Amino acid sequence: MTSTPVRLADHIWPSGLTETADGGLALHGHALIDLARTYGTPAYLVDVPDLLARARDFRDEFRTAFEAIGTTCDVFYAGKAFLCSALVRLLDAEDLNLDVCTSGELAVAAKAGFPGARTGMHGNNKSVAEIDAALDYGVGRLIVDSLEEIERVVAAARRKNVRVGVMLRVKTGVEAHTHEFIATAHEDQKFGFSLSGGQATEAAAEVLRHPDELQLLGFHSHIGSQIFDSDGFRAAAERLIAMQLQVAQDHGVLLPELDLGGGFGIAYVPEDEPLSPREMAAQLAAIVQAACETAQTPVPRVSIEPGRAIIGPAGITLYEVGTVKPVQATDDLTRTYISVDGGMSDNPRPALYEADYTATLANRHSDEPTTQARVVGKHCESGDIVVRNQQLPGDIRPGDLLAVAATGAYCRALSSQYNHITRPPVLAVTADGVRTWLRRETIDDLLALEGE
Ligand SMILES: *Cc1c(COP(=O)(O)O)cnc(C)c1O
Repeated sequence: MTSTPVRLADHIWPSGLTETADGGLALHGHALIDLARTYGTPAYLVDVPDLLARARDFRDEFRTAFEAIGTTCDVFYAGKAFLCSALVRLLDAEDLNLDVCTSGELAVAAKAGFPGARTGMHGNNKSVAEIDAALDYGVGRLIVDSLEEIERVVAAARRKNVRVGVMLRVKTGVEAHTHEFIATAHEDQKFGFSLSGGQATEAAAEVLRHPDELQLLGFHSHIGSQIFDSDGFRAAAERLIAMQLQVAQDHGVLLPELDLGGGFGIAYVPEDEPLSPREMAAQLAAIVQAACETAQTPVPRVSIEPGRAIIGPAGITLYEVGTVKPVQATDDLTRTYISVDGGMSDNPRPALYEADYTATLANRHSDEPTTQARVVGKHCESGDIVVRNQQLPGDIRPGDLLAVAATGAYCRALSSQYNHITRPPVLAVTADGVRTWLRRETIDDLLALEGE
């Protein structure tokens, strides 16, 4: 099969996606039309080489940039973006670290045999059972979010006679340039100890009162998601490093680590232009170095927690078109509503955040003039939108396939069984073949939960 690079904006689509001689799309040589026949639709496809290249890029670029300022940087993949044990084994082989935030996510790490020492656990309301599970697993760090949690971790560490590394999640007051519902560092939200009210200082003192049970590694902040520049990270890092200095002055303790969180943005539509890992790494290293110089503190070991930026662009969703309906949207706009066989159950982000996506015809080429289209799902809600505005060929008809870009993160992870739809499979694609990372759910899976 001869292929040419896909005609679409290639910073949105995974690198293994090409156009075949007959005008359809292929992923590493596997025609999407054949994948649809074999595995059914909807289906999530992961371009594995693309994913690995992104993971390595973060690992190597951040390590290099931070080594140049006399420290290093660890990459913790944020498991909440998408998690399954096959992925965890790949990340392990690539020497990445892993963040989990529930005992369910920890169970996936355990199934994959991921080393506890390279695992961190987040969460603003970890149960005692989850804290116990994390300590039993030997996690390298717990990211602690409340005074109650400090007490619970101390008690668990005593029971198990272990000492656990903790980081304190801090609310830096920084709000990243992002959608309000996914901003997480401004004051009026649930995460972290407030800097301004002195809560963070109090939490640090409390952790340091328990040196037999807890080792205070440092401070952590996560300022939001879909961040396209380093300004928010600068403000957050400066405040965290000032806090470090304060702890050094108050307690004579040098905190060895600093975690700047995740949130690195990706391109969903052609206008999105995220920084490359290399650019982001260089900017963050310069920010940390300058802040440590100002505070006259040694440069700590840094960590970051990208989720979306590693898995998001490597994933696409393949749907089949079921109906095509022209709708008189306004006096002078006819919008073509294209219904596909999935929707808000496999991608709730448009409904939750008005997130934008990009769709393209995947089974053939069309030279028809495009029309203003809206790709919608099959659920019983008018807000069940997959792609709000997309120019698509005017001859799209039932049976055609559509591919939606950048669905690797927060789609399967946030999916539901709304309307008793079974969740699509996650298929890992390489030139060598296709592996099922997660199979499609069946109606029997749904009915299996029912009691009498
Ligand atoms: C969600 C989250 C991340 C990952 O965010 P991305 O936008 O996927 O990079 C990292 N750290 C924490 C604490 C998070 O809550």
